[in-house]
Amino acid sequence: VLAIPAAAYMLQEQEAHAAEMEQTFIAIKPDGVQRGLISEIISRFERKGYKLVAIKILVPSKDFAQKHYHDLKERPFFDGLCDFLSSGPVIAMVWEGEGVIKYGRKLIGATDPQKSEPGTIRGDLAVVVERNIIHGSDGPETAKDEIKLWFKPEELVSYTNNAEKWIYG
Ligand code: ADP
Repeated sequence: VLAIPAAAYMLQEQEAHAAEMEQTFIAIKPDGVQRGLISEIISRFERKGYKLVAIKILVPSKDFAQKHYHDLKERPFFDGLCDFLSSGPVIAMVWEGEGVIKYGRKLIGATDPQKSEPGTIRGDLAVVVERNIIHGSDGPETAKDEIKLWFKPEELVSYTNNAEKWIYG
């Protein structure tokens, strides 16, 4: 008798969390890959409780790097930045979870590693802004655009992780 309302309550809870689910685009730049930081970075997102729904390794072309960073094309460092992003393998990923866009940026830390807090990815693992090892979408619109630029829809995998009920209640 009690099982029915409890189950209904749990379903409502799960639906409420499902409505808050977001996806963000995260890339490990060539410096992070070359320095052997792939597993360290993935591990921080995974242990937090976010879900990996797409991942691949590729060397982006310069043209592709320019598309990715198009918002920065007026900045003096744009050309060097695009050269760098296209200089070697990059790990492209989509991570999913409640609030993952904003909190993912917190895990990453400030753009300039000199200003990133210890405990953040850039704070712990990088020293200068030109080699700050990781990219993360800075808002819902950018996340949508970047996921679309880097992945085909069929490359995103929809699945239930059995730990979700322990992460979200
Ligand atoms: P974020 O990557 O934190 O979203 P931005 O979008 O402002 O930061 O910049 C994109 C990337 O451009 C940074 O991650 C960094 O690699 C590079 N960058 C930003 N500012 C500078 C700078 N002043 N000089 C050189 N490279 C920079």
